[in-house]
Amino acid sequence: MNWSLSIGKIFGIPVKLHVSFILAIPLFAWLIGRDVELTARLIEGFFNAAAGIFGFLPTITIDTSLVAVAMNPYVVGVVVALGLFFGVFIHELAHCLLALRHGIKIHSITLLILGGVSSIEDDLPDPRHELPMALAGPLTSLGLGLLFWILAYGVYAAALSPAVAGASLFVLGYLALLNIMLFLFNLIPAFPMDGGRVLRAFLATRMPLARATKLAADIGKGFAVLMGIAGVLLVFNPILIIIAFFIYIGADQESMMVRYNVLLKDLRVTDVMTRDVLTVPPATTVPELIRMMYATKHLAFPVVDQGALVGLVTLDDVHRTPEIDRDAKQVKDIMTRTLVTLPPDALLTAAFRLMTQQGIGRIPIVEGSTLAGIVTRTDILRVMELREA
Ligand SMILES: [Zn+2]
Repeated sequence: MNWSLSIGKIFGIPVKLHVSFILAIPLFAWLIGRDVELTARLIEGFFNAAAGIFGFLPTITIDTSLVAVAMNPYVVGVVVALGLFFGVFIHELAHCLLALRHGIKIHSITLLILGGVSSIEDDLPDPRHELPMALAGPLTSLGLGLLFWILAYGVYAAALSPAVAGASLFVLGYLALLNIMLFLFNLIPAFPMDGGRVLRAFLATRMPLARATKLAADIGKGFAVLMGIAGVLLVFNPILIIIAFFIYIGADQESMMVRYNVLLKDLRVTDVMTRDVLTVPPATTVPELIRMMYATKHLAFPVVDQGALVGLVTLDDVHRTPEIDRDAKQVKDIMTRTLVTLPPDALLTAAFRLMTQQGIGRIPIVEGSTLAGIVTRTDILRVMELREA
């Protein structure tokens, strides 16, 4: 299942929008616009607290006479939400640019509800590169936050009408605080926040990478659970619960990815594939195919015609065929013809990645056009268990 929308390329990296990101904009706009009066006092509070510490900064007051009328709170909400997501994008881009400088390939950037995910191509992270890469994002957020802060003072000094100055201060001040929060949030030493990466880079100097990852991910999961509990019991806050959920999933995915990369390292498809594959000719009838499935307990068969692989037929293909049509149909009528295949010398990690990306359970291995074997998700999981033992 692919929940992302491609929106273009930057520095050759495809950028995608996740559905959650698009759904989040009206939600954030509503949350931001819900109580502008209170928010304005909050922004003032932060700015004036800073002025208290750094005596040379002016104190400010935010005139909300423009922001608060009619639908304006929600218009401002949309502007701030878009500004926040722009900040998230710049944060993610900073990670990617540093990765590119180290010669690491970036598969794509996906913008999610809570931030971006840069999908970095196959190689295991090198702890020496990971540290600066992990820090680049939060430091960029801090920089952006300070930039918005300075712009807010600029607007304040520009002597616009109080209502217009108030609206600009509201937006710029809000974005300053949000980006600084993004900086602080990402310093939490738990996966999948950047702080988790920093922690892993540190742990990896004293233990194997897989263990360092598992430890950092477990801390992330523990943190997510605590946050979820706080979100339900202490202050009922749906946003906290959603964030906790995403942190948990992110921590889990990260540790899985590194685990399979470590365990499957240096293995090729040919080392684990099943060689004597049961195949069916294209003219096999569907009832015959079903009988074979019962007899062998195999739920999929490669379809071979005169020695060449021409398709794959699975139980799903059978299910998709209405029952009354089955007697009259042959395998060639229902099989999948466009197949994902790999050569025998392909890396096992590549096979696993393909299965995960495309949501498929097995990949036929071909040499030229002849079937050399088949590798399934179960085969790979068993190899991982063997290697862990
Ligand atoms: Zn980051």
